[in-house]
Amino acid sequence: MMFTRRNGLHCVPGDFCIDPVRSTHTAVITHGHSDHARRGMQHYITHKHTAPILRHRLGNNINVTELEYDQQIKLGDAWISLHPAGHVIGSAQVRVEHQGEVWVCTGDYKRDSDPIAAPFQPIVCDTFVTECTFGLPIYQWPDMQLVMRDVHAWWQQNILSGRTSVIHVYPLGKAQRLLCALDQSIGTVYVDDSIHATNQVIVNTGIPVPQYSRLPVATADGLVLTSAGGSANTQHGPNGNVNTLHGPNTRLSLATASGWNVSQKRFDSNGARGFVVSDHADWPTLIQTVKDVNCSRVIAMHGDTSAFVKFLRQQNTEAFDISEILTE
Ligand SMILES: [Zn+2]
Ligand SMILES: [Zn+2]
Repeated sequence: MMFTRRNGLHCVPGDFCIDPVRSTHTAVITHGHSDHARRGMQHYITHKHTAPILRHRLGNNINVTELEYDQQIKLGDAWISLHPAGHVIGSAQVRVEHQGEVWVCTGDYKRDSDPIAAPFQPIVCDTFVTECTFGLPIYQWPDMQLVMRDVHAWWQQNILSGRTSVIHVYPLGKAQRLLCALDQSIGTVYVDDSIHATNQVIVNTGIPVPQYSRLPVATADGLVLTSAGGSANTQHGPNGNVNTLHGPNTRLSLATASGWNVSQKRFDSNGARGFVVSDHADWPTLIQTVKDVNCSRVIAMHGDTSAFVKFLRQQNTEAFDISEILTE
């Protein structure tokens, strides 16, 4: 087997790990989210647009080799290259070739269009190691334009009732996707410090981000994108920023933007509105992508894989949960 599960995904002939969980000498990083890019690696190898995200999160003194998409390098006895995953800026699938056998590891990916992330590119392979965050048939993403129609209607309603709109989002990915999609003729869009800092890193790569205003002071017609706190508790600090909106006359209307909102109520227990926006593949695109890469074997990881593996086997595709086929 070309890979084991040691320290995330360990490539045996290449002697490197993909998105390792513990310190190692050579780490190939698919993208900048914290569950994939961790500190403590002697050598990071990643796409050139993920590198500044890593420096921003992990410090300027990390040792990074930056690759273009499609650029091939040799690690040990394996050739590797990175290919767009469509998930967030710089996100990459890792193609690994050894003695004519090709594996592709997706990291997180999506097929929906994104104003910042380069579009997912299906790579033909023998073994396809796919994420499976939303591996259930209920997860089917609505058209982004329809979601934005709902977001805009909610925002306008909040303005009429004198409430400031607040949407909780990840600072990397979701924040920029909403920022690009929001109609700023309705009112002013504000972001918190953490989103602003991420935007700066993105703009410095040469990818534009729309104009916006910054907290701490938001007008009543404002829509605030914040990464602070959990789902909808806005009493967060110390740098949560949204709490600075709390004044005697400030009333807020809260929302979240996530794929999980498919299976949650329209309003959560805090009364927050749930909009369905995801940077992951939904059920139909997980299945379509397996067809597109024309592989002979699928290994599913990163999520509850059982329904997806079962479905693929019913379609006569050889499929496994990662723990069934790769040794530790
Ligand atoms: Zn991610
Ligand atoms: Zn992830």
